[in-house]
Amino acid sequence: MGKTGDSIPEERIARNLERVRARMAEAAAKASRDLSSITLVGVTKYSTNEETAALVRLGILDLGESRVQDAARKIAALNDARLRWHLIGHLQTNKSKQAVKLFGTIHSIDSKRVAEELDKEATKAMQVGSPHNNTVRGLIEINVAGEENKFGLPPKSETLIEMLKTCGELRSLRIVGLMGMAPYAENPEPISRPVFQRLHAMLDEANVANVYPQRLTELSMGMTQDFQVAIEEGATIVRVGSAIFE
Ligand SMILES: *Cc1c(COP(=O)(O)O)cnc(C)c1O
Repeated sequence: MGKTGDSIPEERIARNLERVRARMAEAAAKASRDLSSITLVGVTKYSTNEETAALVRLGILDLGESRVQDAARKIAALNDARLRWHLIGHLQTNKSKQAVKLFGTIHSIDSKRVAEELDKEATKAMQVGSPHNNTVRGLIEINVAGEENKFGLPPKSETLIEMLKTCGELRSLRIVGLMGMAPYAENPEPISRPVFQRLHAMLDEANVANVYPQRLTELSMGMTQDFQVAIEEGATIVRVGSAIFE
């Protein structure tokens, strides 16, 4: 998709990015957090290859895509080994093999079956030598607000702890944290804040339960509508598309 009729997309994207960064800095300052501890993932699912390349030239190397197939085309077109691709959309198990070759981080692990399938494919890929010669990083997606149309585990600590026990047995998939989304809202602040607080609390509870071999450190939450609130509530990764490419 992307916008037509502007000859210099880079200028528009640079202006937008500057605004997003300023808003991130403002939110971090408000919460007395170090801005450098927060990763901005540029979500490129609605942008052209050209617009995505412009964002890369502006220094954003973490890029997020929702669909494996679209990402495969874009990754091949950009052909830049510095880029760190994040899968942020639902993963069908039959795409696991492709996913572990394309993405260093998968934010949308929403079942034991997906986790096990990714681990199996990541293990195989390492044997034949993949670009990610280490493990694949994964985040467990939580349907924090219990929305019917969203993927993710239900927002219950017991369910998450069971999931982490299973993931603790896997060799090639390393769980680093949790991902969640707030419901869409015209005025997101009062809706998103308690959702993000709940996700943060679940991360803390999981660490206290201590059932996974490593501490979980990442909270992937906040998009265009609510990334400032998310940062105030502890996000370590924000996933922003529209505010950058609009
Ligand atoms: C599309 C998408 C985003 C980015 O949304 P914007 O509102 O464009 O910032 C973030 N996270 C997920 C999971 C998405 O699907």
